[in-house]
Amino acid sequence: MGVSTECPPPDDRSAREAGPPLCPRCGYDQSGAAARWQSACDLAGTCPECGLRFEWADLLCERRARVPGFVEHPGHGRAWLGAAFLWRALRTWAWTVWPPRFFARVRMHHRVSLARMLLWLPALCAAMYAAAAGCMFVGAFVQAGGVAPAADALERAAIETINDSAVGVASVTPRWTALFRPVARHVPVWLLPGLAAWAVAPLLLLALSDTRRLVKVRPVHVLRAAVYGCAWVVPLFALRLANRAGMVVLVSLDRWVFGSPRALYVRTHWLGALLPAWSGYALAAAAAVWMAWWWYLAITRGMRLPRPVLTWALVVGTSFAVGGAVLLLDWRMVRFLG
Ligand SMILES: [Zn+2]
Repeated sequence: MGVSTECPPPDDRSAREAGPPLCPRCGYDQSGAAARWQSACDLAGTCPECGLRFEWADLLCERRARVPGFVEHPGHGRAWLGAAFLWRALRTWAWTVWPPRFFARVRMHHRVSLARMLLWLPALCAAMYAAAAGCMFVGAFVQAGGVAPAADALERAAIETINDSAVGVASVTPRWTALFRPVARHVPVWLLPGLAAWAVAPLLLLALSDTRRLVKVRPVHVLRAAVYGCAWVVPLFALRLANRAGMVVLVSLDRWVFGSPRALYVRTHWLGALLPAWSGYALAAAAAVWMAWWWYLAITRGMRLPRPVLTWALVVGTSFAVGGAVLLLDWRMVRFLG
């Protein structure tokens, strides 16, 4: 075991807010080992509870508790919400696209901010959804402005935006009468299987944790892997935003360059018309491959679990089996197969 003649500077050590040094993986209190230091301290230690090898500096130094640019770690004095938060949320999402990059940066000893972690996906998706609604409003206004007075065009644009944002569940007629339709018909066929597969992996890891089959892992690490493991949802919102932004360009060209407006519906669905029919299946397959890859890296590099391949095969195998079962139970699949 390496021995350092120089301990971390006292001010840096006292700045670590989390209290006693805890094992990054299982949370076991390491104060006892640290108390045995006299004039020198160890560089690395091993948790007597779960066997994790760790660097003492990771547990003691405040500057090692943060990752620059990570959504859970705001810069000093920055606003809690707003553009800075969204920028960090987007940057964190970009790391998740290539899971090795995410798990090389975000490690178990990095401080967890539960609120920021849980807000990451809703904030990112809501911002993209709102931006897409903004594009819809502008596009509908540009198109209606070519044939109607500005006040009527604004009203039409508002109705189009509401109908587009309500994704078929609710709609507003030109006389502002609201209509509601049952939600079940509008649930995409992949949504429930995807959610089931996503939820099973962390639940199984939590169930295995602290049993004889697996070492103890702090639930927050499993939650972190599950939350950022939802990153596959973001491209759906990004595609929607790209679609609506492209619609604004097309509608503007129609009105001011070509002078021949096409139906708004045609312009709003230009991306779907360009993509081949199998692109939905390709996207679902890519999401499944990514999810399997994500959990492999979460188990091996994130939580550094023993017998990683076996644990991964059990977790991902069960998760996909449950997802597949939910897909087969969907009434649309039952009707299709029956
Ligand atoms: Zn431990």
